[in-house]
Amino acid sequence: MTNTVEVEIPLFIKINSADNTAIIVNTSGLKEGTEFSCGLTLTEFVPQGHKVALVDIHPNEEIVRYGEVIGYARDFIRKGSWIRESLIVMPTSPEMDSLPIATKVSKVTPLEDEYTFLGYRNADGSVGTKNILGITTSVQCVTGVLEFAVKKIKQELLPAFSNVDDVVALTHSYGCGVAIDAPDAVIPIRTIQNLAKHPNFGGEVMIIGLGCEKLVPSRLNDGKEDDNILSLQDEDGFIKMIESIVAMAEERLQKLNERKREVCSVSDLVIGVQCGGSDAFSGVTANPAVGYATDLLVRAGATVLFSEVTEVRDGIHMLTPRAETQEVGEALIREMKWYDDYLNKGRVDRSANTTPGNKSGGLANIVEKSLGSIVKSGTTPIVDVLAPGEKACKKGLVFAATPASDFVCGTLQLASGIHLQVFTTGRGTPYNLSVAPVMKVSTRNSLQEQWHDLIDVNAGKIATGEATIEEVGWEIFNEILEIASGTKETWADKWGIQNDLALFNPAPIT
Ligand code: CA
Repeated sequence: MTNTVEVEIPLFIKINSADNTAIIVNTSGLKEGTEFSCGLTLTEFVPQGHKVALVDIHPNEEIVRYGEVIGYARDFIRKGSWIRESLIVMPTSPEMDSLPIATKVSKVTPLEDEYTFLGYRNADGSVGTKNILGITTSVQCVTGVLEFAVKKIKQELLPAFSNVDDVVALTHSYGCGVAIDAPDAVIPIRTIQNLAKHPNFGGEVMIIGLGCEKLVPSRLNDGKEDDNILSLQDEDGFIKMIESIVAMAEERLQKLNERKREVCSVSDLVIGVQCGGSDAFSGVTANPAVGYATDLLVRAGATVLFSEVTEVRDGIHMLTPRAETQEVGEALIREMKWYDDYLNKGRVDRSANTTPGNKSGGLANIVEKSLGSIVKSGTTPIVDVLAPGEKACKKGLVFAATPASDFVCGTLQLASGIHLQVFTTGRGTPYNLSVAPVMKVSTRNSLQEQWHDLIDVNAGKIATGEATIEEVGWEIFNEILEIASGTKETWADKWGIQNDLALFNPAPIT
C-alpha cells in the first residue's frame, strides 16, 4: 500500500462552522461545473489549496476562515467562485492595548505513560542528542582558516573518535565592523554566546578569534581568558595556525569520545517548531498535527518553542489569553511591539512576510497565513517568552521571539537550545541545521511523493482522510524520540545537508 490515494471525488475543507470559505483538496484543482456532495457547484476553475466561496459574499462583507476574519470582499463574490487574492482587502492588525491576558489558561494533563529517549547527560544537567565538537568564532575574518582546519580535523582525526558525530564550525558574519555597543547588538552577541553552549557540544568549548576584533573572544567564554581561546594573530604563520587548531580540537575530541548515551526523560528535550514555504494546507494538515505533537511533548514534560513574530502578530489576540500569567502576556506584547517598531523603521509592515509561493499555494495574506501558523503551538498555556537568542529555562510551551525567516529562526532557536526542529512545509524546502536536525513535515501528499527522500513525515494524508490529526501528531512525537536517541536519522541529516547559520542583527553595521 502506498501513502497516497488518487482523489477522484471533489473535496473541499471547511475548518470552522463560521467559515464562509473552504479550500480545494484535489491535486489538480477542480473545474467549472464541479458539483460537491453538499450541492455546491463551482462557477469557475479553482486551483488546489485555493479558496472557494461557500455563500454569496457582498462588497465589504467579512471573509472568514478558521472562524476568524481574514479580509473583506473588494467586490461581489458569487457562491462557488474562486476567492482570488485581489478580491480580498486585508484587515488591520489587532490592537495591543486592550488584549485579554491569561483568561484562557488550560490545565495540562500529564501523559499516562512515561516516555524516555537515549541522550548524553552533560555536567550542567542538560542533555545532548548528538555528540559534536562545536568550534565557536568571534569574527568572520577567521572563517577561511578555520574551514581549512576543520577539513583536516574531519579527515585525519575524526575517524579515530568513533563516538563523536561531527565537527561543526560556528561561522557567521558578525564580530567586527559592527556597532558593538548599540542596544540591539545584544541580540547577535547573545546568540553567538548561547550557540557556543549548545547541549550537543557536551560542555567542550573552543573559540577561534583573530585578535583585533570588536567582539572580544572572552565574551564568548564567560569573560575568561583561558586555553579555550585561540587568536590567529598570536600564531606564527598559517601552518602554525592550523596545527594549533588541530591540537586544540584533538584534546576536546578525546573528552567528547567518552560521552555515552543514557536513558533520559522526555522532559529533558527542547523542541522547536517552525514553518516555511507554507501553503493553504499548512493550517489544515501539518500545523495542526504539529500542534498535537506539541501538546504531547508538553504533557510529557518537555519544552517546546514556537516563534516567527510576523506570523503570530495577527493572531496575538488568540495567544495572550493563553499566557500563564499577566507577566508572560505582557512579555508577548513587548515582543510584538518591538517587532512592529523594527518593521516601521524599515518602512514595511507585516504584509512583507508573504511570498509569491505562499500566494500561489492559496494563502491570500499574512492574516490567513498567521491563523494557520499559530496552531503549531497546540493548546497548552504559554509559560515563558524569550527575547531573540535567549536560552530556554522553563519547561512547557515557550514563545521564542524570532523573525519568520527560516534560517534566522532556526539559528535563534538553536541558540535557545533546541535539540530538534519540527518544520512544516507545503511548497517544499530542504533546509537543515548542522547542530540539530530539522524534521520535515509535508502538508500535501503530492509534496511527499515528489520529495520522497527529503520529507520525514507526511501530514497530507489528513486532507484525504487517510489519517487523523491525532495519528500524525503521535507519529511526529515518536519520530522525535527516535531521532533524539540516535536510532533514526532525518533525510536531511542522512544526506548531510547543512545550511549556514544566519544571525539576526538589527543593530547598525559600521
Ligand atoms: Ca519560517
